[in-house]
Amino acid sequence: MKTRILVKEGEYRLAKAGVMDAKIDAEELYCYAADCDKVFLFLRKEEEADKDVEEKFLKLIERRAQRVPLQHITGEQEFMGFKFRVSPDVLIPRQDTETLVTEAAQTVRQEFEKGMEKLRKASIFRKFKGLDGYEVLDLCCGSGAIAISLSKMLESVSVSATDISLPALKLAAENAVLNRVGVEFYQGDMFDAIMEGRQVTTEGPRAKARGTKVKQFDMIVSNPPYIKSSTIPMLQEEVKGHEPMEALDGGKDGLDFYRKIVKEAHRWLKPGGWLLMEIGYDQGEDLRKMIKDSGFYSPATVIKDLPGKDRVVKCQKL
Ligand code: GLN
Repeated sequence: MKTRILVKEGEYRLAKAGVMDAKIDAEELYCYAADCDKVFLFLRKEEEADKDVEEKFLKLIERRAQRVPLQHITGEQEFMGFKFRVSPDVLIPRQDTETLVTEAAQTVRQEFEKGMEKLRKASIFRKFKGLDGYEVLDLCCGSGAIAISLSKMLESVSVSATDISLPALKLAAENAVLNRVGVEFYQGDMFDAIMEGRQVTTEGPRAKARGTKVKQFDMIVSNPPYIKSSTIPMLQEEVKGHEPMEALDGGKDGLDFYRKIVKEAHRWLKPGGWLLMEIGYDQGEDLRKMIKDSGFYSPATVIKDLPGKDRVVKCQKL
C-alpha cells in the first residue's frame, strides 16, 4: 500500500473512534512506527510502505483508536522546546502550562535586573550574587516539566520539586537526567516533602536530612490539580481514562489545593518571594479573593494564556 493511503486509512480509523486530531495523530504514529520525521514522510508518501512498518502502524492506530493518549504510545511529550518522558503515572505536560513557566522565568529575570540596578547605585564594593543562590520550589511537579524547564532556562537558579507520587518522582528524576539538569526531588504531601526530606533520584528514595528549620524559597510555582470533581466525568476519554486522577481532581470546587498552598506558602517564602500558580480559566476571581483574604501576600495578578483565558495567578509575600 502507498504510504499516503496507509496514513489516510489510519486517520479515518482514528476519526471514526472520535479522536480529535486524527490527521496529526496518524502522521505522528506513522513517523513513530517508521522511525522517521515528518519531512521524510512527506517526501516518501507516494512510495510503497514497508510491510513491517505497515503492520506496526496499524497496531498503534488500534491503540490510539481505543483512546490511549498519543503520548502514552510514543512515551514522550515536548514542553518549552524540551523533551520529556511521560507515562500513566504523570499528567502529560500541557501547552497551557508554558504560560506559567514563561511568566516565572520572566519574573526571575526581572528580579535579576532589579538586583543589578541596585548594585549600580550602591557602592562598587558591594557584592551581588546575581541568580546564584536564587531558589525555586515546584509543588506537585509530576513529570518535572516545570521544574526542569525553569532549571534549563535559568541556569544558575537552584530548583527543588515535590510530589506525593513516588513513581512520578522517579520519572521526573529521569527527565532531569535526560535534560542534563540537577533538580532536587522530594516525596511527600505538599510542603511536608521538603520538611521530611525524602529525596528521590532515578534509583529511588534516599533520606536526606534537612534539619528542623523551615527552608525559605525565592519563588514557589505550582500546577496543582484544579478540576472540579463533578467535571471529571465530562473530560475527554484520553484524560479521564488514562491520566492520573490525583493530578487532576481539585475537590468539590476545584480549589482544595490552592487553599492549602495559599495558607502555607508564605511560611516557605522569603519576604518579597513570589508565588505563581496555574489556574483553571474560571478560577481567577476566586484566587484573587483567596489571596487577598489570607493577608499574607500582595494583591494577585491574573495572567492569560495564548488563547486569552485566565491561566496563571501571581503574587508576592508581604
Ligand atoms: N489543564 C489540565 C486539563 O484540563 C488540568 C491540569 C490540572 O488539574 N492541574 O487537563
